[in-house]
Amino acid sequence: MGSKSLWTQIVDTNWAQDVSSLPTRYLPPGNLQMLYSQCPGGMSYSHFTRRYNHRWANILRFAHPTNFPACDDCTAYKTAFEDSTDALDKFTISKQYKSHLDAVGEDRKFENWLQDSKPGDATLLIHADGMDQSKWVVPRRRHHLLTKSLSKYDRPKSKLQGIWLHGFAMFLYVLEPRLAGDGSMVSECLVRSLDKMHEYCTNHNIAFPRRVMLWVDNTVKESKNNTVYKLLSFILLQKGLELVGICMSRVGHTHGCLDQCFGIISRAMKFVDDLADDDDIVEKVTRIVQKVNLKAWLGSATVYVEKLESVRDFKSWLEHAPVRYAGALKDDISGAHSFVFLRRRDVPTHLHISCSSDRWPEQSNDVICLVKRFASDKNLSQDPVLVWPQAFMGLLPPLPQEPRPVRCFDVERRKKLLALADTLLNTDATESTGRTVRYLCKLAAAHAEPAPLPRLTWLLNRTVDEYDALISFDASSIRHMQHIVPQMRFAALFKKA
Ligand SMILES: [Zn+2]
Repeated sequence: MGSKSLWTQIVDTNWAQDVSSLPTRYLPPGNLQMLYSQCPGGMSYSHFTRRYNHRWANILRFAHPTNFPACDDCTAYKTAFEDSTDALDKFTISKQYKSHLDAVGEDRKFENWLQDSKPGDATLLIHADGMDQSKWVVPRRRHHLLTKSLSKYDRPKSKLQGIWLHGFAMFLYVLEPRLAGDGSMVSECLVRSLDKMHEYCTNHNIAFPRRVMLWVDNTVKESKNNTVYKLLSFILLQKGLELVGICMSRVGHTHGCLDQCFGIISRAMKFVDDLADDDDIVEKVTRIVQKVNLKAWLGSATVYVEKLESVRDFKSWLEHAPVRYAGALKDDISGAHSFVFLRRRDVPTHLHISCSSDRWPEQSNDVICLVKRFASDKNLSQDPVLVWPQAFMGLLPPLPQEPRPVRCFDVERRKKLLALADTLLNTDATESTGRTVRYLCKLAAAHAEPAPLPRLTWLLNRTVDEYDALISFDASSIRHMQHIVPQMRFAALFKKA
């Protein structure tokens, strides 16, 4: 549609006679001056602001700058630069600031290099992140008499967990409101996504990647890390992979491609007027991701949107491995940002491997962790650590095939949900209300059976013997490892027998 006909349709019709009834739309963060600069000439700034404030300020709003934490280093450099009056000082500070930005850029370069992987490549990059900023409350009814009375209720909220297997697919899991966002949840999402990818590879005759690098933002808790790190060690041995790693962006510089994608989805979801239940969220998100602009941006990756209603108890299962990881896992600048898991036999021989227990005799398939302070560092920040002796594989019972029990809401919360259902039924008997009421009643149950889990094929089959036939991993191809003084030591603390 040409701009002229768009103008006719939207502005120069009686629709624009009464703009107060138009729904609110958001512009990217900015101010009026920036908007005015894009306005074709002829109008004075004062006239422009007057008209905007008079009729448009509530309809066309500027989005808030995102609430991502600023990097401490960046803030310190900027403040020091502003406070300084000496030209030489200013020069020194700006030079230091630039080298900080360069270092951040190195991490990004490494991330982009990994991101370029295509199906059939040896390395797979996985971005995993939760969309915590916006939670979608159900029910949502905009432009409706009920809207005001709904806001006083504590409505159930759904979050989104994203797993992006670069070059293959993106999985968006809409989390059940009662589901804890812990290590087991992340593990379940990872394993389900990898299982689907393996199916795809098998069907298309593509070799499954031999190296898997997981990239997360820097807000993972230590306990969550313990579950995910143990799972990665397990996967390395179970699947006979060459290398499995986990990298984190630097604090304050964590905004990555998955966040950008979440931003697009979250902005588009602002314009959705009705949400009846969790299936409705899945439907609407699916519609958004199929839009042309997001598709173009995602490339050939297929997007799957599905509900995540139950998970395996990965945490308890992995606790059969008597080890706990500590140190360097803090969510701040003192933590290490790169952990690479390899087998003992693939660790370069000149490196000394440290171990906190003498209970585990050396075996060639022991999982060793190489720790770096930042992802792009070329040196390790400490000696490699034994994290998962080969013998652990014999200590783990089979992977649970039963879902973890549902943790129901407390009595108070359940009552509130039912009260909300009651209000809806009494005021608005529509098809959409029926859906919502069914959803609310499900969440308000005092006992609930967890939803059945999909069967996994990939993770269950042990392929370590296949790997033994391959030539051992060439250590010279492990680039991007090393240097920088360790701030916090990472340790694997083995429990006594
Ligand atoms: Zn910074």
